Amino acid sequence: MPSIDDFRAETRAWLADNCPAGVRGPGPMSIGSTKLGMPEDVRLWQTRMAERGWTVPTWPREYGGAELDKEQYKVLIEEMTAINARTPLTGRGVNYIGPTLLEFGTDDQKARWLPRIARGEGAWAMGYSEPGAGSDLASLALKAELDGDHYVLNGAKIWTSDAMDCDFIFVLARTSPDKPKHEGISLMLVDMDQPGVQPRPIRLLSGASPFCETLFQDAHASANDVIGGVDRGWTVGKRLLQFERSTHAGINISGSQGGRREESRVPEIVQRYGVAGESLPAALRDRLTRYSMDDAAQKLTQRRAIEETRSRAPGFTSSAVKLTGALLKQEGDELMIEAMGTQGLGDDAGTFESAELAITRNWLYGKSLTIAGGTKEVQLNIIAKRVLGLPD
Ligand SMILES: Cc1cc2nc3c(=O)[nH]c(=O)nc-3n(C[C@H](O)[C@H](O)[C@H](O)COP(=O)(O)OP(=O)(O)OC[C@H]3O[C@@H](n4cnc5c(N)ncnc54)[C@H](O)[C@@H]3O)c2cc1C
Repeated sequence: MPSIDDFRAETRAWLADNCPAGVRGPGPMSIGSTKLGMPEDVRLWQTRMAERGWTVPTWPREYGGAELDKEQYKVLIEEMTAINARTPLTGRGVNYIGPTLLEFGTDDQKARWLPRIARGEGAWAMGYSEPGAGSDLASLALKAELDGDHYVLNGAKIWTSDAMDCDFIFVLARTSPDKPKHEGISLMLVDMDQPGVQPRPIRLLSGASPFCETLFQDAHASANDVIGGVDRGWTVGKRLLQFERSTHAGINISGSQGGRREESRVPEIVQRYGVAGESLPAALRDRLTRYSMDDAAQKLTQRRAIEETRSRAPGFTSSAVKLTGALLKQEGDELMIEAMGTQGLGDDAGTFESAELAITRNWLYGKSLTIAGGTKEVQLNIIAKRVLGLPD
């Protein structure tokens, strides 16, 4: 086993030789979609990193990982960040369903799915929310009826991000309608490339449209692809949500997170637009100072959460770090918009620079961060009950 210094030196040298110029700095990242085109450098980077097990650095070798320990993983991320390398493969495959399979999958399921996920062979959508089941997720009604060796699915999922570009979807479905609502749910994997699965785009306030409503009409899922056991989906599905929340929070060490970290541009933008005369108005300066302190505290908390994690990803801590991260991002966006005045409220028809429009869109998109992955109130309920031990 090489020392950590040797590992750093080897990693640095390998990255220098193998990280293409086109994946250094901001730009597109692969989610493994077979439906989206990919720039050549992005494809090459994904292939090279997958061969080395570094698309999922902490996973076992037999499933496409490199079995890095936490310290090595940290070094890899630091070295990627130092050269501005982007994450070679991201999305719900490597970050959500992969780690869930590692914990709950049978040997057969792990062998069939994990190496493909690690290589980026197919993008994954998440089929949890329904028109009548969001925060109250256990009320979900997507019906799954066993018919020989497969389940037949009927119903609808909503807010399925990126579903138009995805190859597979993991769904929470109702397998036993007669049981109490938390006990009749199963998590299963579904191929989206079949006539019974139809994603339909939904347009958003921010202009972009990553959302879909996904309809299931006699769609099939193999009975071999129920994860964690039939009617055990509530337990398995909640663990997957922890992987999702820890990804949002930047503390999911069992996924592919890594590479370029955006340094906060809030102080720079606020200074640039917000200066009246010689200095920032006092109220804005106070908020900016508080924001900068909270930003530093958030980074330290992320580091601590990773260091203290003994399993594949933090448990209930992910709710707290996800929530504070989302609130911080929203406050940073508000500060920029306030400092920019009317320049922060652009639309395509106005005389706004593209960088200004990007800040406006980001501000609008940021509103969703206290909804996606469970709302702010849901996270606060989890923290109250599971972390602080307060009564129901
Ligand atoms: C950007 C984005 C991406 C998403 N991607 C996906 C995806 O890929 N797949 C997927 O399945 N879903 C996805 N979602 C859906 C998301 O999980 C739900 O929007 C979320 O769980 C809230 O559900 P809801 O929209 O039905 O709101 P509701 O549950 O109807 O909530 C409405 C309001 O009531 C409050 N509320 C509800 N219950 C309580 C309570 N017990 N205590 C206090 N307040 C409460 C909520 O906090 C909220 O303010 C995404 C959402 C967003 C915004």
